[in-house]
Amino acid sequence: MATCAHCKTIETELHENGVPICMQCATIRDAKAKGQNCNIHAALIQDLSKATRRAEVAATDFNATIGNIPSRLPHPDGTQHISNTSRKLTAARKEMLDAHNRLNDFLTRGIVPEDLKREEKGAV
Ligand SMILES: [Zn+2]
Repeated sequence: MATCAHCKTIETELHENGVPICMQCATIRDAKAKGQNCNIHAALIQDLSKATRRAEVAATDFNATIGNIPSRLPHPDGTQHISNTSRKLTAARKEMLDAHNRLNDFLTRGIVPEDLKREEKGAV
């Protein structure tokens, strides 16, 4: 595994001409070649990358919290900490799922999310 040379965030096994590239960056490049709206596409992919990263961090935090529990029942503060990290992980996973769905809707049905429509109009 290597870090994508384009976004520098995603680990990938895909290489092009010896340069590591993730599926998302390859998808953006392909969309540009097809003349699709790359700003929206790139924004959606960037959102997904960030959401994925947040979910990974939340999962790491949660696993670290769970890993600190001895075999006896945790201290009340520990219980609260477990609850907090669990809630953060759930929220981060939902954000990641939402980002996946937004990208999927754009790619398969051409649906541009409302927040990106405003940015697009503002940019023109
Ligand atoms: Zn990439």
